[in-house]
Amino acid sequence: MEKIKLGISTCLLGENVRYDGGHKLDRFLVDTLGQYVEYVPVCPEVECGLPIPREAMHLEGDPDSPRLVTIRTKQDMTDRMVQWARNRIIDLEKEDLCGFIFKSDSPSSGMERVKVYNEKGLPVKKGVGMFARIFMEHFPLLPVEDEGRLHDPKLRDNFIERIFALKRWREVLGKKESRGNVVDFHTRHKLLILSHSSKHYQIMGKLVAKAKDLPIKELYQQYQTILMEALELKTTPKKNVNVLQHMMGYFKEQLSSGEKQELLEVIDHYRQEYIPLVVSITLVQHYVRKYDQPYLKEQVYLHPHPSELRLRNHV
Ligand code: SF4
Repeated sequence: MEKIKLGISTCLLGENVRYDGGHKLDRFLVDTLGQYVEYVPVCPEVECGLPIPREAMHLEGDPDSPRLVTIRTKQDMTDRMVQWARNRIIDLEKEDLCGFIFKSDSPSSGMERVKVYNEKGLPVKKGVGMFARIFMEHFPLLPVEDEGRLHDPKLRDNFIERIFALKRWREVLGKKESRGNVVDFHTRHKLLILSHSSKHYQIMGKLVAKAKDLPIKELYQQYQTILMEALELKTTPKKNVNVLQHMMGYFKEQLSSGEKQELLEVIDHYRQEYIPLVVSITLVQHYVRKYDQPYLKEQVYLHPHPSELRLRNHV
C-alpha cells in the first residue's frame, strides 16, 4: 500500500512555528505512524502571514462563532484567518487526504473543547479552532483527531483503523467504476464493519445486495458515506466478542474439542477484559492459517493495520 496522506498541524512535526518560536513534536506521530503516512503540514497562523514569534491569540465571544483575537493588543484576526482558510481548503481538496491530526487546544487548529473567553474574560471549553472548524465543515466524512486524544489507546485504534480503511476505499475509487469492486471491498470488510455497528452492517449488506438496481455513482456515494459513519462508531469488547464468536462458527467442523475450548477461553478472557483483543485475534489468525479458511483469510478485521503499530493491545 502507498503511504496514507494525512493533514497535520505543522508544530506536531517538530517545526518551530508556534507563537513562542517553539514546537510540539509528537514522537508517536512522527516516528511510528510516520512510517505509514505522508504528512501534509498546515500551520494556519504562519500560512496566513503572521510572523514567528508572534503575539498569542485566543477565541472570544459566542462559542458557536467566536472571533480570533490577539490577547494583549486585541487585534482581531478572524477575517484574515477565514479568508486564508477558505483558499487553503481548495488546495487541500487536491491532496486526497485520508484524515487530519490537529493540535489540541489551539484557537486556530484545535478540533474541540478549545477555550472561548466571554466579555468578563472567563473561558468556556466549548470552542473549535478557526481553521479546524472550516476544515471539518468542508470534509465532514474525513477522520479527524487531535494529538491529545490520540494518546487514548481506544481513540488511537479507531482513528488508525479508519484512515487505513479509507485508503483502501480510495484504491477502489482509483480503479474503473464497477459494482463488482464495491462488492469485493464490502466482502473483505464485513467483519470489520460488524465490529463497529451491527446496524450499519445490515444496512450496507442490503445496499450491496441491490447494487445492480442503483445508478453506479449513487452506489459509490451511499456506500462511502455509510462506511465512514459506521467506522466512526467505537468498537467495544461486546461487539468484538460477537465478531470472534461469528468467526468461530466458520471452524465448527474443523477445530478439535481442545482447540474450541482454548478459543472459547481466550474470547471469554477478552470479554472480561483480562487480556487485549490482539490475543484472541492472534489465535484466530493461527486457525485461519492452519485450516486455510478462505472467507476469513480475506477478512480485513484480522489485519486492519500493520502489527508494528501495536494496536488492539490494551485492556
Ligand atoms: S497549533 Fe496550529 S497554528 Fe498553532 S503553531 Fe501549531 S499548527 Fe500553527
